[in-house]
Amino acid sequence: MNHPQSGPKKLRRESGKVNLLGFDREALEGWFAELGEPSFRAVQVIKWIHQRRVLEFERMTDLRKALRDRLAEVAEIRLPRAVLDRTSTDGVRKWLLTLGGDNAIEMVYIPELGRGTLCVSSQLGCPLACTFCSTGQQGFERNLTAAEIIGQLLFATQALETDGTARKLTNVVFMGMGEPLANLTSVLRASNLMLDEHAYNLSRRRVTLSTAGIVPALYRLAEVSRISLAVSLHAPNDALRDELVPINRKYPIAALLAACRNYVKRTPHHRITWEYVMLDAVNDTDAHARELARLLIGIPSKINLIPFNSFPNTCYRGSSPQRIRCFSEILQRAGYITTVRRTRGNDIDGACGQLVGEVRNRMRRLGADQPQLPVLRA
Ligand code: SAH
Repeated sequence: MNHPQSGPKKLRRESGKVNLLGFDREALEGWFAELGEPSFRAVQVIKWIHQRRVLEFERMTDLRKALRDRLAEVAEIRLPRAVLDRTSTDGVRKWLLTLGGDNAIEMVYIPELGRGTLCVSSQLGCPLACTFCSTGQQGFERNLTAAEIIGQLLFATQALETDGTARKLTNVVFMGMGEPLANLTSVLRASNLMLDEHAYNLSRRRVTLSTAGIVPALYRLAEVSRISLAVSLHAPNDALRDELVPINRKYPIAALLAACRNYVKRTPHHRITWEYVMLDAVNDTDAHARELARLLIGIPSKINLIPFNSFPNTCYRGSSPQRIRCFSEILQRAGYITTVRRTRGNDIDGACGQLVGEVRNRMRRLGADQPQLPVLRA
């Protein structure tokens, strides 16, 4: 894989040091080669960072002292910092993480029987502007670095370990803020670490990338990765999808489905999860359900119906539970595994992206460069 930024100089940040947190094995091997070190150093350091969560080079005792000192001079392992940490009555925990400035990354942990899912962000804001998504309506700031993405997983693993409930983190979904396929290089580096046996060792079935459908990036993903794929479809025809998911004007449904067929062909036993947000009188009629069932014929599929999360100034309303049930039954009768997403963490959440707006305002009031923002617990 090509890592355009793998040279030590290019990744130097304000501190003048390279943050090794986001380096996958290949990138780290390249970096150590430039330092004149053998490639196995990469595995050693990845284990320290991601498995043992030791972030000071001084404590990496299987590296010789001179190397530890050298690393401390040129590199660092910098984690995001929590500016907000809330746990809902149903156990869902939500953090806002910052690496400085007035920007925050939203991250959610959802415990379920026998598993725990971390929902991570891939961008600050989102450039796709889906009309029913509050993040999309707030605009786009920038891509997250690989360190900021994998930092979410490390941070959550550490936080869950110390919260005394022995809760586990078994699955990761790229369903927080942002469009992961619009930030493919960093998302791939982070997902390589998620799958790496020396880092998080998650199986590819337990790491899911959710996309609104950036078709060329989806072909690229099929070449280099086998992680699970969820596609935000939300409409069974181009006229409606053009309106709800504007990227459809560039990559219409036929092109998206061709890229999805290619993905499943390259990934045996894989089923695509189709996400479909249920919007009252917009995309939720029986006719839409039948059209959707016809559209997906021949593609190994699961359909996930998502109750709409409302937010201020939206023109949409969520479909009634009864409408969702009827829609789901039509799909099931047509032979599709169909689930309805359970809405969790309502009391701490609001709609997708809202908490970030709230904190951003608060941080502006505090002043963007406050050195130590308090961690709020509620
Ligand atoms: N950009 C990616 C991933 C982030 S959004 C994507 O589009 O898939 C994760 C999921 O939440 C997507 O299926 C998205 O369509 C859905 N979503 C966004 N806003 C929502 C809302 N207000 N209510 C319910 N689901 C929403």
